[in-house]
Amino acid sequence: MRRAPDLLMIFDCDGVLVDSEPIALAVLGEMLKGQQVALSDEEIAERFLGRSLGAVAEIVEQEFGRRLPEDFPAMIRRRLFARYETELRAMPGIRSALDGLAARGVATCVASSSLPERIAKSLSVTGLSEAFGARLFSASMVKAGKPAPDLFLHAARQCGFSPANCIVIEDSPAGIEAARAAGMLVLAFGGGGHARSPAFRQKIASLKPDAWFDAMADLLQFVDGLRSSEDSLHG
Ligand SMILES: [Mg+2]
Repeated sequence: MRRAPDLLMIFDCDGVLVDSEPIALAVLGEMLKGQQVALSDEEIAERFLGRSLGAVAEIVEQEFGRRLPEDFPAMIRRRLFARYETELRAMPGIRSALDGLAARGVATCVASSSLPERIAKSLSVTGLSEAFGARLFSASMVKAGKPAPDLFLHAARQCGFSPANCIVIEDSPAGIEAARAAGMLVLAFGGGGHARSPAFRQKIASLKPDAWFDAMADLLQFVDGLRSSEDSLHG
């Protein structure tokens, strides 16, 4: 008999399930330039990666004293969705990793700073919707987004798991901090198109995730290792 899931793996969406960050950061850069906020690609990634568009607007206002138009998030979403249709790809190896997790009886869900509509779009364009069903959680469902722990705690509660039995897969500093604050194990994924610069990798390393991997296949090895160490502890 298959045992009930003892683990919930909580996936961030952008930069983990789908390789969306190079597209998202490029669109954000273009749109900010149109608002006379000129930043380099690196500066944009450093400030805004893993944050909601609402948080982006707040940061721009605080740092540059520039109030973005109310429809700024909607304009970004429109442009993004158009590019997603032709450019967005699932992260290499994610499908077989999800199959492998299902075969091991690991429960999975998505917890993202994006709005539900954007999460659904990302997953449908890349053929990943079925793997998660309705287990999609957005920062719009909680009071405070990442780096606050609220979203991960909400996802765990909705799926019926305690934080100690959750593993978060994240690519962004804000997400790693959020998982930590939620009292969950956090694995940094560095295989996205945006995660290659030495400065970015240094920032991730400084947050000391519980493990770090660049290939989705390594996720399964991590789970197997975790289980065998638990078996030998409780065996
Ligand atoms: Mg992300």
